[in-house]
Parts: sequence; C-alpha cells; structure tokens
Amino acid sequence: MKSWLIPVLLLGIALVLVLLALWFKKASGLPSGRLIYADTDQLQAVPKPFFDSKLRLVGKPDYVMRLASGELVPVDFKSTPAPVQAYRAHVFQVLAYCYLLEQSYGQAPPYGVIRYQDKSFEVPYSEAEKERFLDLINQLRAVEACADVPSRSHGAVARCRGCGYQDICDQSLI
Ligand code: SF4
Repeated sequence: MKSWLIPVLLLGIALVLVLLALWFKKASGLPSGRLIYADTDQLQAVPKPFFDSKLRLVGKPDYVMRLASGELVPVDFKSTPAPVQAYRAHVFQVLAYCYLLEQSYGQAPPYGVIRYQDKSFEVPYSEAEKERFLDLINQLRAVEACADVPSRSHGAVARCRGCGYQDICDQSLI
C-alpha cells in the first residue's frame, strides 16, 4: 500500500465522523451548547424538578442547554409532527420552564425551544412574554380559588388522562 494512502484514509474517516456528528446534532433539535440538565437517567440520576414557591409552580424540562454565551435554554420534546405554529399550550409550557430556570439560576433564558418530531420552534422569553405567562398563572390561581369551576371545554379523553386535576375533577372523561 502506498505510504500516503493511510493518512488520506484517516483524514477521510475523520471528515465523515465530523459530518455525522454535525448531522446528528442538527437532527436532535438541540441548540448548540453544553447539556447541563436532562430529564432522563441516561446521563445521571434523574434530577429533581425545578420549583418556585412564589407561584407554587413545579416543572421538568426535557433538557437544559448552556449556550456559549453562558445563557441557559430549556428544550421540550414532543412526539408529534410539528403544527404550522407551535401550540399555545406548548408555548406556555416552555415559558414556564424559562421562568423556573430564571428563578433557580438567577438569569433569564433568552428563549426556550419546542422540538416537534420534524421541526423546532424558538419561544422568546421577553418581558412581554413573561407578563403573558404570569397573567395566565394568575388567572389559573383565581379559577382554583373559585367555588364554581368552569365547564369542561373539550371532549378529549387523552387530555383528561394527562391532567393533574383528574382525581378531583367531576367532569373528567376517565
Ligand atoms: S380531568 Fe377535568 S380539568 Fe382535567 S382535562 Fe379533564 S375535564 Fe379538564
């Protein structure tokens, strides 16, 4: 074998590996950065959920990435294909993660990510979006304090199955 062939082959293999790594990274939908939190036991013991006593809010993003700038970004994975626009409930879920990270780390994420099967959406965590989220939480707390609860607004059994109020709800479909 020619002496120059081995370095050329090694270089070719290295190039293929780099391209594969870049492709996997893009396909994963994770922003560029260092993974610091994963809601799985594959990388570490399953971490505790984030908790904010002020809002009585608890949550676990699927992943948290630390960007090169040092900022944190929560990522939430969905198992369904992407809609035209991210669902409102998913947007508020990611805003909740942004809020919880801000309270836990003392720094506000610039945005959060919703990763559907085939597409990602960035959800900006601006002051306006944060206000929208806090307003929604206030509305939820007000409803919780009411004697009369609002009527069920859907016929989706799956929603009731995944609902945290299922045990005390008299309108549950399950
Ligand atoms: S269990 Fe009750 S509160 Fe929860 S989704 Fe079903 S109807 Fe709504």
